[in-house]
Amino acid sequence: RQARFSKLRHVQAITKDGERVLLNMNAGLTVDLPHLYQSGADGIGLYRTELQFMVASRFPKMEEQRKTYNRILDMAGGRRVIFRSLDVGGDKVLPYLRRVKEENPALGWRAIRMSLDRPALFRTQARALMRAAAGRELSLMLPFIADVSELLGAKALIDKEVEHAKKHSHELPSEMRVGVMVEIPAILYQLDQILPLVDFISVGSNDLLQFLFAADRENDRVARRFDPLHSSALKVLREIAAKAIAHKTDFALCGEMAGRPVDAMALLGLGFRSISMAPASVGPIKAMVLSLDTKKLGEMLNGLVDGNCSTIRRELTEFARKENI
Ligand code: PEP
Ligand code: MG
Repeated sequence: RQARFSKLRHVQAITKDGERVLLNMNAGLTVDLPHLYQSGADGIGLYRTELQFMVASRFPKMEEQRKTYNRILDMAGGRRVIFRSLDVGGDKVLPYLRRVKEENPALGWRAIRMSLDRPALFRTQARALMRAAAGRELSLMLPFIADVSELLGAKALIDKEVEHAKKHSHELPSEMRVGVMVEIPAILYQLDQILPLVDFISVGSNDLLQFLFAADRENDRVARRFDPLHSSALKVLREIAAKAIAHKTDFALCGEMAGRPVDAMALLGLGFRSISMAPASVGPIKAMVLSLDTKKLGEMLNGLVDGNCSTIRRELTEFARKENI
């Protein structure tokens, strides 16, 4: 099987009905980068910058961050990399960051909330990213946005860094793309306001599903209790895709479900054409894409999603079997 997938490395992911699908990989350290070539991924759809912070014994200085980001971009060799700003808090702790104990850390002071309360931290990271990407494209993704004002706040800090760079005659990125993660249910009802303000969105289905079903992703007793192929989850994902298409904004999904063939197949049926996953999943998912007819799937899937109020995994698995996917 592995040999079969490695043969697909240089094959583009195009469905039987001619739809090009971007298969990106998730990464978090420079050691992940060789996987970009071994897996045949199109780019990095989620670079979790917090990993560098978690393995350090103190906050990495601007210059240390810059060097890391610079290396990542060099190693990616022109393939797009989406850097996510620091997503610590919750289960991801920095031993050197003093913080109060939280009863519900997943719902606590994390990610963009921390960045906005500690703007110097965020600006240092934005500065390091902009310097690393001087003359190249920079894609920066903001995690855990619950309110449009948080996006505006972060954008204001980014603008300050652009001004700072100009004042000091530092070369800017050739293009700055700012996006948000869709992973908090409240944001689903702000998409019409948010989509015109961003260059892209990416669904963080790990968090989005944990909050949608109120099921802790870290708790073995409940983490797999609700299926990502539950019609409620698929209705939400379908709505996000439809809104992004209507606003002509790039959209993707970068949670674990993107790496599971039947789940990823469902995403394509809902209109997703860009998904990001662990490197080991890229081959198997590419094989699925190559044997899929999205039109045939889409028609059937819409009916199933509308006509059910539970998981439709059985029906989708049956479809995949019949279609030799
Ligand atoms: C997610 O929430 O789905 C996601 C991709 O981010 P993380 O798993 O790092 O929270
Ligand atoms: Mg998340």
